[in-house]
Amino acid sequence: MVMLNGGKKKIFNKYMDEITLKRYISQHIELFGNELYMPTDYNGETKNNNLPHKYKTLDSFRAAIEKCEKCNLSNTRNKFVFGSGDPNADLLLIGEGPGEEEDAQGQPFVGKAGKLLDKILAAIGFSRDNKVFIINIVKCRPPENRNPLLSEIEQCFPYLIQQISLIKPKLIVALGKVAGQTLLSQNMMIKEMRNKKHYFNSIPLIVTYHPAALLRNQSLKLDAWEDFKHVRDLLGSKGI
Ligand code: SF4
Repeated sequence: MVMLNGGKKKIFNKYMDEITLKRYISQHIELFGNELYMPTDYNGETKNNNLPHKYKTLDSFRAAIEKCEKCNLSNTRNKFVFGSGDPNADLLLIGEGPGEEEDAQGQPFVGKAGKLLDKILAAIGFSRDNKVFIINIVKCRPPENRNPLLSEIEQCFPYLIQQISLIKPKLIVALGKVAGQTLLSQNMMIKEMRNKKHYFNSIPLIVTYHPAALLRNQSLKLDAWEDFKHVRDLLGSKGI
């Protein structure tokens, strides 16, 4: 049974603020019943320990949720998009939701925006199969590429939490306003979220533009490049 009073609340609050904590626990109970998994170490020392016994790997978790029908997006999707990359990634990139090509292929960021993201990653010495994992806030395509509804995000959010718990990245990069606002639980403009080191469940978090926004507005590319140089520095010699 999860208790939210006394000393336990204090311990939980070491990792997240109260709003995020309440949302995390209610969604986690919905997904896993009263078995509460609380990440205890994001430094990579306890990878794959202390997990709900059903989901010790990303593959087993994917198998458990790939037929999800929790929200209406299941009615219009072609393919569920779990995410892809290195299961031991240091860098976790989080977009908002699959687009048309992602929905057709079942893979994240495979359209024009994905190709641009690949170039950006290569420019800072990363690739999506090497120390990088890419996921979305919602796993099914919102029709006409609209933003996911809050209700859809809330239904899908426990999956994101579990993915982060399994991957244990050293750094999260939120791509775009929807991902940034969801992870920060704040209704901020992207320029307010950029240029700051935030935290999500004690993991450093950077917010930058979605690659699709860079394709629409070339003038944002310089700012995005500064953000990704910062990512490179955080994960490189300057450390986190
Ligand atoms: S978007 Fe998430 S919650 Fe909704 S059906 Fe897809 S996997 Fe399930």
